[in-house]
Amino acid sequence: MRLIILIGFFTSSLGLYRHRHVRAVHDGDTGAADSYLEQFGYMSSAKSVKLHSTSERTEALKSFQRFNNLPITGKLDHDTVHKMNTPRCGVPDMEPSSDGLPKPYKLGPKWTKKNLSWRVTNFSDRLSNSVLKSEIARALKAWSDVADLSFTEVSSGEDIKIKFVTGSHGDNGPFDGEGGVLAHAFFPQNGDAHFDEGELWVVNKTGTDLFIVAAHEFGHSLGLDHSENDDALMAPYYTGYITNYQLHPDDIAGIRSQYGEQQNPSPTDPSPTDPSPTDPLPTDAPRPTPAVTVTPPPVDNRPELCFNGYEATIKSKKIYEFDSEGTRTRVLKIKKEKGRKILPEKTRAAFAVSENQVYMLGDSMAWQLDLSTLTISSESIKLISEEFPGLPSGTEAAMLYDTQTVYFFQSTMYYSFDLQTNTLNGGPYDAAAEFIKNDCEVLK
Ligand SMILES: [Zn+2]
Ligand SMILES: [Zn+2]
Repeated sequence: MRLIILIGFFTSSLGLYRHRHVRAVHDGDTGAADSYLEQFGYMSSAKSVKLHSTSERTEALKSFQRFNNLPITGKLDHDTVHKMNTPRCGVPDMEPSSDGLPKPYKLGPKWTKKNLSWRVTNFSDRLSNSVLKSEIARALKAWSDVADLSFTEVSSGEDIKIKFVTGSHGDNGPFDGEGGVLAHAFFPQNGDAHFDEGELWVVNKTGTDLFIVAAHEFGHSLGLDHSENDDALMAPYYTGYITNYQLHPDDIAGIRSQYGEQQNPSPTDPSPTDPSPTDPLPTDAPRPTPAVTVTPPPVDNRPELCFNGYEATIKSKKIYEFDSEGTRTRVLKIKKEKGRKILPEKTRAAFAVSENQVYMLGDSMAWQLDLSTLTISSESIKLISEEFPGLPSGTEAAMLYDTQTVYFFQSTMYYSFDLQTNTLNGGPYDAAAEFIKNDCEVLK
């Protein structure tokens, strides 16, 4: 029973993948071409060891060529091979049917509501969290600018779950590393979008541009299928970075047929000088910088480090550094000391107090990392209850607000701690109500 439900789910939303990766197709390599045609729905899977007949392959190649506006030769010619080797979306173009003849998908199912929420649950090591999220928001906005939709980032209960993952990741579409399949997404009422962490994701430059790929995948998340129009965003192939990208009329017509035109054009983003919220701030807490967002701090398994424009994230024993554009510049590795584990505990949160001094917190321990030597001294390893007296356990994020105040975030609440007097200023306070944005922008 359980198996039947799963198969039904994938057939209707992502297509049934076999566990294989897109491999390079060379001239005359009919085996690789067959795999490709099967994976993207142009041909049904060969039964057991029986291979596809020549006529079956010819028909599949013709429908592939027709879909992609190539000369219809029915042969594995140069143009066809070239197209098959172009990086693309992992969602199939055609629906293999029981009679073996591929049929184009129609529009996918649509959401029954117009206000949708999203959350990034697995970030990329290639981009800083804040830049990654702003590109995701921009890609969603491309659709809500033209159709009657709105999107909100949330910290739980999201409609659209976004993750960067490698290889097999729990669905029937394993990723294949750099090139080949870049990403895939599920139609409503699922909407999740998965990105291959094996790609060299970049923002606003040549490389695999996250905005373009994400905007395409969110087209699927919203119920659009692949377009046969080469110039449409919903064409299955990645065309590269485009400055000031605008949706193609074909994409706009598609999304409007699902949700109608945008009725309430969104105002431009609120400026940081907007009036402060009316909620009174606790008098014993330093006043945060002006309102920038109402989103509670994200709960990420990858602590961020921000200090005077320095931005990095910590994952296990590695520190990923980013430039001001959010592109990764360096990966540093914390050194192992003799007779000791590299980290006393799994890192839950971290904050920098100077250029080279970083506090890291686990579940019950806190310790200090010297960024200049990449070492953790034994003397710095303490119980959290000793190092930060009064702070309850469960910290998920932390940041230095001014030279002496640290905010510790736990779920949607935060605590304020004074490093100089070594005492808790107060808390828990509602992070969302007080308009604190927990990322590097606050410190810039
Ligand atoms: Zn696609
Ligand atoms: Zn997936």
